[in-house]
Amino acid sequence: RAKDQGRNTYQFYTEGMQEREVMRLELEKDLSQALANNEFVLHYQPQLNLDSSKVNSVEALIRWEHPRRGLLAPGEFIPLAEENGRITDIGHWVVMAACRQLAAWKGTPFEHLRVAVNLSGRELDNDHLVDHIRDTLNGEGIAADHLEVELTEEIFIQNIEHNRDQLFRLHDLGVQLAIDDFGVGYSSLAYLKDFPVDLLKIDRSFITEVTERHDDAVITRAVINLAQNLGLQVVAEGVETQAQLDFLKGQGCNIAQGFLISRPVPAAELEKALASGELVKCAMVD
Ligand code: C2E
Ligand code: MG
Ligand code: MG
Ligand code: MG
Repeated sequence: RAKDQGRNTYQFYTEGMQEREVMRLELEKDLSQALANNEFVLHYQPQLNLDSSKVNSVEALIRWEHPRRGLLAPGEFIPLAEENGRITDIGHWVVMAACRQLAAWKGTPFEHLRVAVNLSGRELDNDHLVDHIRDTLNGEGIAADHLEVELTEEIFIQNIEHNRDQLFRLHDLGVQLAIDDFGVGYSSLAYLKDFPVDLLKIDRSFITEVTERHDDAVITRAVINLAQNLGLQVVAEGVETQAQLDFLKGQGCNIAQGFLISRPVPAAELEKALASGELVKCAMVD
């Protein structure tokens, strides 16, 4: 009996494994078609400038309109794309889509907006990335300072020399550079001296309980001071409550981003929200 049970357990386990492997292979196959089928879309999350109470920039976040599984968040396919190398083409598409959106906003009340795109370390490995970004900006007639690139601290741990070179080339074009999820990586602060960084984005994990936990408040305040003293702009991500926003404003944080202001939304919805003026209300409270 024990033996049978053991065997059943084993079979169940392998079936589960096989099922996951089949799903993964299926997703990988679908991913290989997604670009050709035009299934990716960018959603935009506004960033509220706390000095001016205006939205001057938005972060572009990719979604996959999967034909059977509905709208997929990046966490469900970006890691796979990084593993199998498709991330290079996806990254090129993201830059192109962001620049096309910027071109579409020309001559509208939204033409001042800067768009921030996320690139993973794997994308920086590609030597053609900077040329692609430059050609895309030129092709769409976009000034480079309308584009911002968000990178996480991982780029300061591996291929440091190569990454530093890539960042300087990007920065020389006029593209703004932001360190995303700042404070949760394993890198040293020393890279802030050697890399051309324009913005720090404080990781959401410090903001979530910033009004309840002394340690989060201390760390957040320290990062804001660090950024300011280095002459960098500082963005808080994951702002969900008015109390968090008031705290950040009081500490001199430059920019806030989070569900309190808006979730990431399709471009048309962003335009409607910006036109209505509703997004900046939370910055007006005193
Ligand atoms: P991220 O760049 O740190 O983006 C912030 C994530 O937090 C987004 O999730 C956003 O929807 C979410 N978020 C924003 N405000 C709040 C809030 O107030 N509360 C909470 N709980 N969450 C909030 P999303 O869109 O699922 O993206 C996850 C990650 O996927 C991004 O983290 C980024 O690292 C990556 N990603 C997104 N788009 C791209 C892309 O085009 N290319 C690459 N390589 N990675 C991307
Ligand atoms: Mg980001
Ligand atoms: Mg982030
Ligand atoms: Mg994050």
